Amino acid sequence: MREAVKNRLVLHFPKDLIDQPIIYRLAKEYDLIFNILQAKITPSEEGVMVIELSGDRGNYEAGVDYLRRQGVKVQPLSADVRRVEERCVHCGVCLAVCATGALFVADRKTMRIGFDVDKCTGCRLCVSVCPYGAMEVTW
Ligand code: SF4
Ligand code: SF4
Repeated sequence: MREAVKNRLVLHFPKDLIDQPIIYRLAKEYDLIFNILQAKITPSEEGVMVIELSGDRGNYEAGVDYLRRQGVKVQPLSADVRRVEERCVHCGVCLAVCATGALFVADRKTMRIGFDVDKCTGCRLCVSVCPYGAMEVTW
């Protein structure tokens, strides 16, 4: 049976690859589905993209290998997003800006705020509103 994989990745493109149709080839040649969640292009420097990539495991691994061979740095989004637990006071301010449900009320009685990195798109909105500097997004 074929195994499906879905992961959120941060891709760093060196400047000479910015105008290449690399992501398009992931779909066409590796039969992968991609969803661009964030993108930042700095002309003559580098491009950074956060994507959700899914498909058959074999195709997925071949596609990620293709990216690396092209010179694209690939890392999981979860390595670039974290909540510093000792700084979070569960004030709930971040709930108003997190549209994906990555930040959520985990316990209605105590109003403890949970964080699910798998739902995060790395949009950074929580970073700008958290009064305690508890959210860190480094991509
Ligand atoms: S705004 Fe900051 S301190 Fe408040 S619940 Fe969110 S992460 Fe925690
Ligand atoms: S970066 Fe913050 S606001 Fe944006 S999706 Fe992730 S947890 Fe939610």
